[in-house]
Amino acid sequence: MLFCTKEQVLKSHQYQTQLQSESLTIIKRGIVWATYVSSALLLVVMLNIYYFDKAFFDAEHLTIKLVPLALALITGIAVTKVYGVSRIGIAKTYAYLGVLVAAWCYLLVGLEMLSSSAMQGIESLADVLVILFAFALFPNRIAMLLGILPFLVFGSLYHFNQYSATPIYPITKFLCFLGIVLSGQKIISGWFTKAVLRNIEKKKLLAQFKLLALIDGLTSISNRRHFDDVLRQEIKSSERSEQPLSIILVDIDYFKLLNDSLGHQMGDEYLMKVAQVLNSALDRPRDLAARYGGEEFVLVLPDTDATGASHVANKVKWMLEEAGLMHPSSGVSKYVTVSQGIALWQKGMLSANLLERADAMLYQAKFTGRNCYVSES
Ligand code: GH3
Ligand code: MG
Ligand code: MG
Repeated sequence: MLFCTKEQVLKSHQYQTQLQSESLTIIKRGIVWATYVSSALLLVVMLNIYYFDKAFFDAEHLTIKLVPLALALITGIAVTKVYGVSRIGIAKTYAYLGVLVAAWCYLLVGLEMLSSSAMQGIESLADVLVILFAFALFPNRIAMLLGILPFLVFGSLYHFNQYSATPIYPITKFLCFLGIVLSGQKIISGWFTKAVLRNIEKKKLLAQFKLLALIDGLTSISNRRHFDDVLRQEIKSSERSEQPLSIILVDIDYFKLLNDSLGHQMGDEYLMKVAQVLNSALDRPRDLAARYGGEEFVLVLPDTDATGASHVANKVKWMLEEAGLMHPSSGVSKYVTVSQGIALWQKGMLSANLLERADAMLYQAKFTGRNCYVSES
């Protein structure tokens, strides 16, 4: 299947896994960001208290309220610096998030209980924390709700205790905040999901185009371009390893006559069948069969000397006999046959020289009477 519908991509396992992994990456980055912003916020809170109420700042109990959050922040920053965000697992990420939220709640409740004139901004601090954790955790609705709900509840209760005998304002504020954050999360996570989907489609298309660029349209084996690349690589590899390398140029005998007698369409089908036979004559993973052009094919045989290449040429001959593709106008057999030219790579030889030599051997095979192979000694 070349192209998928959007629904098929959405349902695919690859999509789900990629979406999960990208969500986790964004959440991890969001938590790191929330850690740094929390450190800055903590500093601002401390400066605020110091400025408005130095006596309260000096009080011992304030220090105790600060310790869990300070420790959580220092640990978070140190762990991400030492291990790197990508190496921290999902369970540890959420455990740290729980500790961070709990430490902030502990500080907020502590400050509220100590109550001082410097504590007037505490409700705003809870609101800022709601926004902070909503942005940090937007890819996962449940994580986001767990992150923001404690601060939303705290803000509402705080307002109710301090200013009002009626719960209308805190409840309205709670519901408005919740509604805005949830609908905003839906929009942003929708964009995020679309971006992941587009990314998967782009990667799939790229892989398909790459594949199409290397495959012959008619026979579905490698094309000339892929052959050129592979041969160049194998020559480099043999230069290094000093292992032998052979190629076999294969040409169908009397193919023009076959086209004339059976028609071009049948000729095309025969080309596909010969390509299949050549492909299945190769056993090793690095061997390659390619369509060189027209009714000519080429086999690349790494780590193979003259004896090995002759063995492959013989195998091609008997496998074609076994395939029994009728050729009504061949001068050598009643079936389709091929002539083969084997060339052996020598140190310092370029791919063009190797091909020239294989072509010369093929010419000799044709001259000798076809349906045979000729090899360089
Ligand atoms: P020889 O035994 O000397 O190789 O004879 P031949 O007829 O095979 O050689 P020649 O090179 O004269 O003819 C090759 C023919 O292959 C000519 C061309 O029409 C045919 N051919 C090339 N590409 C295709 C193709 O893609 N499909 C079909 N059906 N025929 C093709
Ligand atoms: Mg030819
Ligand atoms: Mg031919």
